[in-house]
Amino acid sequence: MDMTNSVGAARAAFASEKRCADAAARSCGCGKPIGPKNQTGYCRSCCARAKFHAPGVRERRLESIRRNFADPAYRAAHAERLRIASSTPKAIAARRQRGREQYRDVLSRPDVLARTQSPDARQKRGASITEARLGWCPADRREEYRVLIMTKKIPAAEARRIIEAEIAGTLEHGRREIASNELAARLRHERQQREAY
Ligand SMILES: [Zn+2]
Repeated sequence: MDMTNSVGAARAAFASEKRCADAAARSCGCGKPIGPKNQTGYCRSCCARAKFHAPGVRERRLESIRRNFADPAYRAAHAERLRIASSTPKAIAARRQRGREQYRDVLSRPDVLARTQSPDARQKRGASITEARLGWCPADRREEYRVLIMTKKIPAAEARRIIEAEIAGTLEHGRREIASNELAARLRHERQQREAY
């Protein structure tokens, strides 16, 4: 966002408010002193808050975020930045620390344990994990998929292709349809060639 614009928006939105704008006193409405060159009449944090709540600012921010994320290249670059930022030793340590605190303060509490470890909760969790992993597979084909990967030892991706080839509407099914159409066309063509002589 353009800095001049947002300062302008903050000033315009709050110009009528005497609370914070008394620049002569050189202090923000919250009591913090402000420098003589300060143009908004706000300290840094009040200015940020004012800018954030100024009319139209939120909409413009969201609009520009939406525009950026509509661009696949931007999205990919953003994901890459995030991946790098979250894999530094510092970030990993911080994440681990938050996890420990979360366990200590919340997850190990008896009332939370009673809730999360109840048979009902476990069953729900299991069902939602299954749904996440096997959501692509119709319920009546899941046993078949399990047999393919567990008993027949077929790699999961291959087993999925086998099942999907049977499910109308999937990419694999479309591929197979095309392949069998092409085969039918080729056989027809060959027959016609033979019959021509
Ligand atoms: Zn302030």
